[in-house]
Amino acid sequence: MITYREALALSLRSVSRLPSWRVPLAEALGLAAAGDVFSEDPVPPFTNSAMDGFALRSADAAGASDGSPARLRVVGDVSAGQVAAWRIEEGAAVRIMTGAPVPDGADAVAPIESVSADGEWVRIPGPVRPGANIRLAGEDIPAGGRVVEAGSALGPAEIGVLAATGHVEVEAVPRARIAVLTTGDELVDASERPGPGRIRDANLHSVCAQVRAFGGIAVPFARVPDRRGAVEEALRKAEAEADAIVTNGGISMGDHDHVREVLEGLGAETLFWRVLQKPGGPLGLFRLHGKAVFGIPGNPVAAMVMMEEYVRPAIRKMMGFSRLHRPEREGVLDDGWRKSRPDGRLHFLRVRLREEEGRLRAALTGPQGSGVLSSMTLAGALALVPEDATSIPPGGRVLLHLTERPEDHG
Ligand code: AMP
Ligand code: MG
Repeated sequence: MITYREALALSLRSVSRLPSWRVPLAEALGLAAAGDVFSEDPVPPFTNSAMDGFALRSADAAGASDGSPARLRVVGDVSAGQVAAWRIEEGAAVRIMTGAPVPDGADAVAPIESVSADGEWVRIPGPVRPGANIRLAGEDIPAGGRVVEAGSALGPAEIGVLAATGHVEVEAVPRARIAVLTTGDELVDASERPGPGRIRDANLHSVCAQVRAFGGIAVPFARVPDRRGAVEEALRKAEAEADAIVTNGGISMGDHDHVREVLEGLGAETLFWRVLQKPGGPLGLFRLHGKAVFGIPGNPVAAMVMMEEYVRPAIRKMMGFSRLHRPEREGVLDDGWRKSRPDGRLHFLRVRLREEEGRLRAALTGPQGSGVLSSMTLAGALALVPEDATSIPPGGRVLLHLTERPEDHG
């Protein structure tokens, strides 16, 4: 058996970044940029007004006051999209709209609401700082500046900046296609009323939803019966259709747990099986013809926690993100926690977070059994009780994985 940290490192090593391709901006949202992107041109491309007002020489208003405003002659006007034909000489001003190029000679804009204009003349009731209300060419992005960093997520702002710099396509990494197989003779479709001894297949839905929430594409293979032949057939199909596979259930030591045997029969290499952790002890990782297969246990909480802790970082790596891991912070556990016995395992506890005087405080969401799925709906974080600890006293320190916050490290 190996530790969580070892198993996580192996999980990340078992996958690699998918080949990138050029994507139109309209399809790039949520993907990772495959490389740095630079701007050929400066943004803004020319020096322009940040306000509707009057472009002037700040020197002309230097001595102005309410009682003796500077009186400037309005020699023309310029709107966004036009280019001023005038050079501003001493004592002159040009009426200018937001986004219009600042005429030569002017070094400031007095906003319309601060002046009084009448016809050919405008009164400026006080000094205007040089550079006031002017956006300099290249002040946002200099020519040659980097607009998007390799491995960063393309969000609405990045897409906007790419458009502003004339990139209508971007080299990005595609979404990972993840096959999800649920196994178990006890499972019925969620739409059915389970007969005696049967339960609804919840995990197909939670795990596929997690794949989607992680940015991947879920390819569902539902309710594979606990028969070697059926598991083998599903795995063959899954392998052909996906970049990686998640199997759910059938990975423990029960009589009907066939996933590992079938994988090995198909020629898969076992990277690990069983991890010193709870939930998720029976977790296995395999490589089937170059593709990673995560064999996650069927307990609904174990399944979700394993998806979060192992499969999410792996999907992010496949999808080219440079930040793979959620924020890991120290916090305080309100409630005490005691392992039922010293088991040498890392325990993941579902907790609710709050911030108090700059400190993270965590409270258990309720009973921590691996089958208690409702506790997941309340959890905003996982608290880690280390392998060598047997208990955490009320108010004791724990490491927290902030599962509702974006990844902040590689
Ligand atoms: P297994 O890992 O196959 O031994 O399953 C462990 C426990 O999780 C058993 O109680 C199963 O009935 C339950 N379980 C397995 N798969 C699912 C599923 N897809 N949805 C809900 N519960 C499941
Ligand atoms: Mg089973």
